[in-house]
Amino acid sequence: MRKCSIKMKVTLWYTGILSVILILITAAVIVYTNMTGLLATEEEVQGAVTGFVGNIRFKNDTYYLDGDTEFYNDGVMFCVYDESGKLLYGSLPVDFPVQTTLQSNTARIVKNHNKEWMVYDGIYSYGQGKALWVRGLTSIHSVESFLSTVRKILLIIFPGLVVLIGVVGYFMTKRALKPVDDICERADKISGGDDLTQRLPLPKVQDEMYHLTVKFNEMFERLQKSFEKEKQFASDASHELRTPVAVLMSQCEYLLEHGELTEDQRQEAEVIMRQAKKMSSLVSQMLMIAREERMADPSQFEDVDMGMLAEIVAEELEFAAAKKEISIHVDVREECFVRGDQTLFMRFLMNLIQNAIVYGRKGGNVWIRITEEGEKIQGEVRDDGIGIGEEHLDKIWDRFYRADPSRGKEEGTGLGLSMVKWIAKVHNGEIHVESSLGKGSRFFFWFPKKR
Ligand code: ADP
Repeated sequence: MRKCSIKMKVTLWYTGILSVILILITAAVIVYTNMTGLLATEEEVQGAVTGFVGNIRFKNDTYYLDGDTEFYNDGVMFCVYDESGKLLYGSLPVDFPVQTTLQSNTARIVKNHNKEWMVYDGIYSYGQGKALWVRGLTSIHSVESFLSTVRKILLIIFPGLVVLIGVVGYFMTKRALKPVDDICERADKISGGDDLTQRLPLPKVQDEMYHLTVKFNEMFERLQKSFEKEKQFASDASHELRTPVAVLMSQCEYLLEHGELTEDQRQEAEVIMRQAKKMSSLVSQMLMIAREERMADPSQFEDVDMGMLAEIVAEELEFAAAKKEISIHVDVREECFVRGDQTLFMRFLMNLIQNAIVYGRKGGNVWIRITEEGEKIQGEVRDDGIGIGEEHLDKIWDRFYRADPSRGKEEGTGLGLSMVKWIAKVHNGEIHVESSLGKGSRFFFWFPKKR
């Protein structure tokens, strides 16, 4: 019952309550019909006996019975007895218990086997202590059979009626609650997607659903505002941090180049330098994330030659690669134009190629390939470096996730690939990875070609 949906609960409650009401009404109808049916029969027999007595004329010590007296009239049978209970006229039905005692002026039911009769005995005195009994009786089988027919019909109709009520109730509740399902589905899409500026459409009628939608929209509004505040804070903080970090790095660099340092002091200064570099990379990635919305505005997109960008980035990283004796091979044969933000595409390739170098092996290779394939511009950045363990493969795209912080770059932040993924997404592209530990990694991606 706990897992039962509201639709089911409402249907069960409502079907249950209606069934109870139906049972009560049916029971009341049966009892009432029974009572009124018997009462009517009782009055009918009593009236018939009184009518029958009209055929007897009493005079002093004797009585006369009309010659044309009928002992059966309209379903009622009549018998005449003397004061000692001896049957004088009329006959009884075959199954009627002959010994049934005469009781003056009381209607009652007499049963024998499966048959029932309504009996009324009237006593009429005449002469000197003489009396005649007139018994009227009718089978109440007709009332009984009517009631049993009613019961049978109800037994057949009742379950059908309950099922019908249940089904109709279920569909009515489902229909009434459909807006709730719609609201949930849309709210799910908004909160699951990245666009909190979307709102739920307001229903035309100002009912409960309308108020619920308004509350949801107010909640999205507050969420959006708080996200914007957070982003603004990250943007301001990283912007403010840029200058001190740059000063720290340049001063450190100066100290390392021109300072008269002991070996210990040099090592300390180098630690500061490395940490400052890490901070600088973190600050610039955070700044980019904080400004991502503005940068991903399609109205600001331009034509970008992905092939040319790859060559520029490869050239820029030539020095870092040379330090590890890594050879970079760029394979770009034609112009590969896509539409998007040039800085973001630059960052996209930079993060991938930088990783390929950093996680590459000494004396290894990095292959970069950009090609045009139908409606797409495809590319890949491949290395023969340390590779990524299978258990990390789907997590490396998460912010701040680092497969194994002890390996590779000291200044790593775990933000690079999350940014790469996001850049692919805002340009309607896709990126995937294949890697095996110790053998190397292959990051392959595609973007829609510029039209
Ligand atoms: P980081 O700043 O740590 O490089 P990234 O988001 O760029 O952060 O990458 C996440 C993790 O993915 C890295 O910590 C690294 O372990 C793994 N990774 C990324 N690129 C490669 C690669 N070419 N070869 C091996 N491991 C990689």
